[in-house]
Amino acid sequence: MYPYINLHTHKPLKEENVISVNNQMLQEASDIPPHLFTAGLHPWYADQLSLNVLSLLLDRCAASPDLVAFGETGLDKGCRIPMKMQLDVFDLHLKKAVNHGKPLILHCVRAWDELVEITAGTPVIKILHGYNGSEQLTDRLLQNGFLYSIGKGILNPLSKIHAALHLIPISSIFCETDTSNVTIQEIYQGVSAALKINEEDLRGVIYDNYSKIRSELK
Ligand SMILES: [Zn+2]
Repeated sequence: MYPYINLHTHKPLKEENVISVNNQMLQEASDIPPHLFTAGLHPWYADQLSLNVLSLLLDRCAASPDLVAFGETGLDKGCRIPMKMQLDVFDLHLKKAVNHGKPLILHCVRAWDELVEITAGTPVIKILHGYNGSEQLTDRLLQNGFLYSIGKGILNPLSKIHAALHLIPISSIFCETDTSNVTIQEIYQGVSAALKINEEDLRGVIYDNYSKIRSELK
């Protein structure tokens, strides 16, 4: 039986048969944790660390074999942080991801043009976390090599991702609980129901997807 992979959670839970990747916000905690993690500076907090300090912290995290990806990082036009500052911080994550051969966990709100442009052609695994895009957006993003981490949006039959999921190749899908209280098992059930595939098969596929991002570009 394949374990569940929770690619992005803010709650470091130890659960039987679940591999959880805990999201660490570097402005809150910069120690290397004793479990799988991602580390970065979220665009909402882009003003809370200098680029020099952030650079040192990202390098330090990269030395841990438990670092799965840098992030979450990205661009958000709905927050108060000036875009120029967000772009500088995001660019630093992107450079570190290239240098250290690590994937990026991406947060994007209304900045898809910028995200696509900046990441185009970079040799980095790009994972859109909490993805809840429409069919139209998904169609557009598919040509740009993103991977998609699906969260609780899939449990709402009226959500955009519920309608768009069928467009995404199953080899590009992950599941996550993020900050929600939903279980990773419920997210897997939602994805397997929306795709009309057996949950056991989905577990195998996502495990393979995870193994791939853990072994590539090292
Ligand atoms: Zn998150």
